[in-house]
Amino acid sequence: MDHLDARTLLIAEIPVLLLVGALILAAALLGRRERTLGWTGASLMLMGVGFLLGVADPANAWERSVTGFGALLILAHACVWTGLRAFSGKPPRWPWIVAGPLAWYAVCQWPEFVFSGVARVTAYSLPTLAYSGAALWELWAAQRGKSGDAKLAILPAVILVLHGVLAFARMTATLLSGPEPGPLRLDFPMAVFEGMLFFIGMSFAVLMMVGARSERRYRHAALHDALTDLANRRALYEQGGDMLRETLAQGRSVALLMCDLDRFKRINDDCGHEAGDRVLAAFAGVLRRVVRKDDLCARIGGEEFVVLAPDMDAEGALSLAERIREQLRQCDCRVCEPLSVSIGIVCAPQGGDDLGGLLARADRAMYRAKEAGRNCVRLWTGDPRDGGSAAVAGDGGGRAGQHPVDA
Ligand code: GH3
Ligand code: MG
Ligand code: MG
Repeated sequence: MDHLDARTLLIAEIPVLLLVGALILAAALLGRRERTLGWTGASLMLMGVGFLLGVADPANAWERSVTGFGALLILAHACVWTGLRAFSGKPPRWPWIVAGPLAWYAVCQWPEFVFSGVARVTAYSLPTLAYSGAALWELWAAQRGKSGDAKLAILPAVILVLHGVLAFARMTATLLSGPEPGPLRLDFPMAVFEGMLFFIGMSFAVLMMVGARSERRYRHAALHDALTDLANRRALYEQGGDMLRETLAQGRSVALLMCDLDRFKRINDDCGHEAGDRVLAAFAGVLRRVVRKDDLCARIGGEEFVVLAPDMDAEGALSLAERIREQLRQCDCRVCEPLSVSIGIVCAPQGGDDLGGLLARADRAMYRAKEAGRNCVRLWTGDPRDGGSAAVAGDGGGRAGQHPVDA
């Protein structure tokens, strides 16, 4: 790299850094003011401006240009770290962001320092190593906190480790070879080039992380109910349909429970819409508590919920429905009305093998429960004399306890 001129390289890199930085900042502003991208774009801009200072007037104002160049590049590293903190929703740590550049600025006031290559490389490498290490820690913390995608974190982690190893090697080589360039000394143009690759590589890695997370969030929003965070009707048809087909294809049974809160409109009218929302969220909590890991719970309408439970027969479904009723009864939602739910059950394959048909039959059974006085459970049995449903359990109309299946 002896023939590579640092000044020419810096000049060539400036438009690249400023352009990519501006594009990432624009993406940050357009994409719901995404802070992670904002900090990453800022790091590229700072690096570009730092390089501008580096080539500004090196002959006459060398000390000043080295001071500004180093301070901005160290600050750019702090921005990369802060961007990864923002990705996990953490605020910027201003004292630590300015500590590195300020320390550099302070030592640069000492003329002997500026003219010592060993001191310069060491004082520049230490804060950049610290910021890169902190950025790596943030990536790891994001994985632990489940706010990141493990596969997408590999690329920025590799870039940070490589950058850290090269910075450390450069510092060690400079310390070993002394103030004059020796055989071990990694030259300045190489460091400048690697710096640009690091910042651009990190920007694209961060862009990919942010893009993947946005996609994950939109997909989650498309398939979940905003109030209860349960699956919505669309997710029930997508995931529930697949689950039903796979389970039935293996000769296993599936139970579908249609739950409709009783006299819910009255809760809204008497206690307020917010209280109604509280009850809906609490009922979602009840479902989460009583179902098994592989069961699918969905809110398919205002106060209508569905549980799709693989490997469950009528007996299991009746006992699950009773647990739901009991848990709701014990639920303290601070509302003026007593809480109860009517539940219709259908089992596959006896009750059919397509989700639409099963939902219609469970709905019919649920209406039988309403007709029986609410707060009870009905099982669809397929008996045409009974409109396809039969009484099984509940306190409907004041009656309590289990009722025999009307097959
Ligand atoms: P039934 O016992 O026959 O089921 O009577 P109900 O009052 O529960 O049923 P109805 O269908 O008459 O009323 C449902 C009410 O649910 C009407 C609507 O205002 C309310 N609702 C729908 N979505 C929401 C919501 O997201 N939040 C709140 N608070 N209320 C909702
Ligand atoms: Mg309803
Ligand atoms: Mg209702």
